[in-house]
Amino acid sequence: MSFKSLGLSEPILRAIEKKGYDTPSPIQAKAIPPVLEGKDVLASAQTGTGKTAGFTLPMLHLLSENPKQKYRPIRALVLTPTRELAAQVYANVKEYSEFLNLRSAVIFGGVNQKPQVATIRQGVDILVATPGRLLDLESQGALSLKRVEIFVLDEADRMLDMGFLRDIERVMKLMQGKRQNLMFSATFSKDIKKLAYSILNNPVQVEATPENTAVEIIEQKVYRVAKGKKTGLIIKLISDGNWKQVLVFNRTKHGANKLCKKMISAGISAAAIHGNKSQGARTKALAGFKNGSVRVLVATDIAARGLDIPLLPHVINFELPNISEDYVHRIGRTGRAGASGEAISLVSADETTYLRDIEKLIDMKIDVEVIEGFEPDPNASREPIKPGQNRNRSQGRNRNSGQRNSGNSKNSNRNRNRRRNDNRG
Ligand code: AMP
Repeated sequence: MSFKSLGLSEPILRAIEKKGYDTPSPIQAKAIPPVLEGKDVLASAQTGTGKTAGFTLPMLHLLSENPKQKYRPIRALVLTPTRELAAQVYANVKEYSEFLNLRSAVIFGGVNQKPQVATIRQGVDILVATPGRLLDLESQGALSLKRVEIFVLDEADRMLDMGFLRDIERVMKLMQGKRQNLMFSATFSKDIKKLAYSILNNPVQVEATPENTAVEIIEQKVYRVAKGKKTGLIIKLISDGNWKQVLVFNRTKHGANKLCKKMISAGISAAAIHGNKSQGARTKALAGFKNGSVRVLVATDIAARGLDIPLLPHVINFELPNISEDYVHRIGRTGRAGASGEAISLVSADETTYLRDIEKLIDMKIDVEVIEGFEPDPNASREPIKPGQNRNRSQGRNRNSGQRNSGNSKNSNRNRNRRRNDNRG
């Protein structure tokens, strides 16, 4: 299968060639034809599958097919949950539209709105935006969504996790007339399906290759370790292995900051990236990580979404995510584009339930090792920590029972949902 056989126009094919892509990824092969036919599409795909090109390429094709309008109203809107993802999608739009007569812009919060307003005033065909800034500028009269022909909701699941449902509904009301709607989501909860039902008309459903295929090519390992020894262990792994580019995941912003400081004290250059950091600080951290001046990037799940860092050799879960699907997103950062990578998880007793849930989701057992000097605490409780709970480490409730929560019950799903809100990065 080639991009040409999908029916994309010559200027778009040229841009794809310039990017160096030979063949469409599975989600591209499945999503591009129905989008070109003008259909609404509901796609199940996560970052790393090539989903951005999956909606951008046919969107550009359709927009460039119709004659350009005199005063360039916004004809396509791409809504993303995070600033990083918005910037990333915009960069893709720019690259793929290089040989087309289309203008695009990106807007998000946390930075001065003036340059964004000035760009929009000159007329843009495609707007990539996060919900807050979009609604802000619309209410100021700086932009209108009345002429939007194509609407893309990217990472819809993350949108809901971040509490953007009301904002999405407000945005929908601002668009008028007939429209093609595309929705991308990595997971499909009841809420996502409800949202899809309200946005999409008779959608074609497409799916990326099952996540497990990606998971299987990544070398995964668990180190069982006492909670208090995790920092020592991670520093040892990075130093002994002389790893140069490591992405480390933390559940909380506070934890990310703390770990980052300890790394720096140990002589390892590190930066943290999470929702409390200014846009400038995030951009700087990411640039340092990409150019090699920052060895370790410590990120929360939400902040890591949309980061385009190809071919990472090492991903470390300093803490396991309490939502199993996030584990798949995290480790998907390594072993991209067929290159092999390593995903290591440091697991303390209270994360046992999370580990079981993850193994169930990916349908495989992860190899477990223990490193001398960094053994797990045999007296630690296996009860998962609840959000906001700061439990004494050696409480040891299940001490001798050997009992494990299999994560198999409805309870576990309920807990997962309850824990979701604590995970905002
Ligand atoms: P995405 O899932 O959109 O974040 O894309 C993940 C990565 O795959 C990005 O670095 C893209 O540039 C890259 N990519 C997208 N489509 C292709 C393709 N057909 N062939 C090779 N790489 C691609």
